[in-house]
Amino acid sequence: MSAAPVIVIGSGLAGLMTALTLAPMPVVLVTAGRLGQAGSSPLAQGGVAAAIGVDDDTSLHLADTLAAGDGLCDAASAREIVGRGRDAIMALESHGVRFDRKPDGSYALGLEAAHSRHRIVHVDGDATGAGIVKALVAKVRETASITILEDCRALRLIKRDDRVVGVCLEGKGPVAARAVVLATGGAGGLYEATTTPLGNLGQGAALAGRVGARLADMEFVQFHPTALAVSAPRLPLISEAVRGEGAILINDRGERFMADQPGQELAPRDVVARAIAAEIDAGRKVYLDARAALGEGFVRRFPGIFALCQEHGIDPARMPIPVRPATHYHMGGIAADCDGRTNVPGLWAVGEAACTGLHGANRLASNSLLEAAVMGLNAGRAIASEMTAATVRLEPVSLPQMSDPAPVRAIVSRGLGILRHETGLRAAICALLPKAGHDDAAAVALAMAVAAFARCESRGSHARTDYPHKNASGTRKLFTMDEAFAFARELAASQPLSRTA
Ligand SMILES: Cc1cc2nc3c(=O)[nH]c(=O)nc-3n(C[C@H](O)[C@H](O)[C@H](O)COP(=O)(O)OP(=O)(O)OC[C@H]3O[C@@H](n4cnc5c(N)ncnc54)[C@H](O)[C@@H]3O)c2cc1C
Repeated sequence: MSAAPVIVIGSGLAGLMTALTLAPMPVVLVTAGRLGQAGSSPLAQGGVAAAIGVDDDTSLHLADTLAAGDGLCDAASAREIVGRGRDAIMALESHGVRFDRKPDGSYALGLEAAHSRHRIVHVDGDATGAGIVKALVAKVRETASITILEDCRALRLIKRDDRVVGVCLEGKGPVAARAVVLATGGAGGLYEATTTPLGNLGQGAALAGRVGARLADMEFVQFHPTALAVSAPRLPLISEAVRGEGAILINDRGERFMADQPGQELAPRDVVARAIAAEIDAGRKVYLDARAALGEGFVRRFPGIFALCQEHGIDPARMPIPVRPATHYHMGGIAADCDGRTNVPGLWAVGEAACTGLHGANRLASNSLLEAAVMGLNAGRAIASEMTAATVRLEPVSLPQMSDPAPVRAIVSRGLGILRHETGLRAAICALLPKAGHDDAAAVALAMAVAAFARCESRGSHARTDYPHKNASGTRKLFTMDEAFAFARELAASQPLSRTA
């Protein structure tokens, strides 16, 4: 029997970087969908945040990150990840990524909301994710130690003697692993209005949670303020970088409703998202107006976004762009250190599936690609030095049925939106609980709802109308899936609700 490989689940930036860093150690890279085409990574527009400009410093980037996180960042994790910005950019370049540069050869650095400096490194203007993924996929395909399994989903982790020793793969059954790395991305697909792929259902949190891994910050979901307001299953994104170039938000009365807010259109995302939601709730439409700031230059600076707008009959050089908030990023996930270690031996988590505490209660724009790249580098190095080869024989295990996520989406969209309230959260918990035992999407949504219910304050992206203020003693919440289930059962028993929520 040959020694088991490291199994990396997910082929976004975090999974690709982990697999490449592990070479020449044998890796099986498992991905639902085609390599390089699924997940959020290829969709990323703005870029990677890194303090590499002449006027910048990692301490400034750290200060911006901590401010966006609204008091809940893990400062040590944030310092480590932000401090590795230059390493991440160099590692990506060593794998063939070509970031945009100015005529003098220095990096062309963009500005995004709540960043105090221009520090967003990008590829082909607004095609950063696609450019990065394309280069890394080419490198992965030519790396002999990486076996690629496409169109294959991980359905369950296998634990023996308290450590993860393998994974059950769709159509293949149990496969032994030296270590399993979850790089499964976020949970935006749990919502009806999202900029993320609909298949991002928090699979990593479900897989890890069901084997006892701790989950963290599950209540914090970032709503991007400016998704394109069109009828589509996944809403196209109008990057913050457009506001960074001076575009303004107006309503259908032509009023610039962010003008009096600190930071104006570049205020933190949760502030802008709530302001837009308030306009929409008041029956008004909201537009992003780039006519004065960019005009005919729009197509050159943002060719991808220009094309997206054109697909929907909008010319951003001449017309304001209709926008609305949509879920975009999950700050919470599998609790992990900056190397991706979880509390379960043999199980690692990287990228958006993981929660290091870098983002706290809200993510600073473009810090997620940075985190995915740094964690991939760190996890690859740590696993290569710590995980010894193991030979394990696994018995067949029964596999879960996949459920239709539509009912869960409806519950989550209603109860866990931009504005939350005890009644809605309680209803969501009671509706999710009966499904969560067998349905992974419901289990993840339940963990999010329990965390949101338990956070009796408004902070960062988590806004409660019944607790509108920040609690001075608010701390991060880490819990296991079993604890979330127990909390939900107790709540449901204490006040049974109709199941129509
Ligand atoms: C439209 C958009 C624009 C964005 N722009 C930016 C930006 O400019 N800068 C920035 O920093 N961040 C941006 N983000 C966020 C960023 O793209 C993501 O946080 C990041 O790409 C996550 O990378 P990842 O590798 O962790 O996960 P993903 O790239 O989401 O990849 C997840 C992978 O896991 C696979 N998978 C999931 N479940 C399973 C399973 N059970 N079995 C097998 N495979 C599975 C998926 O198929 C996929 O390959 C953006 C997000 C969106 C949606």
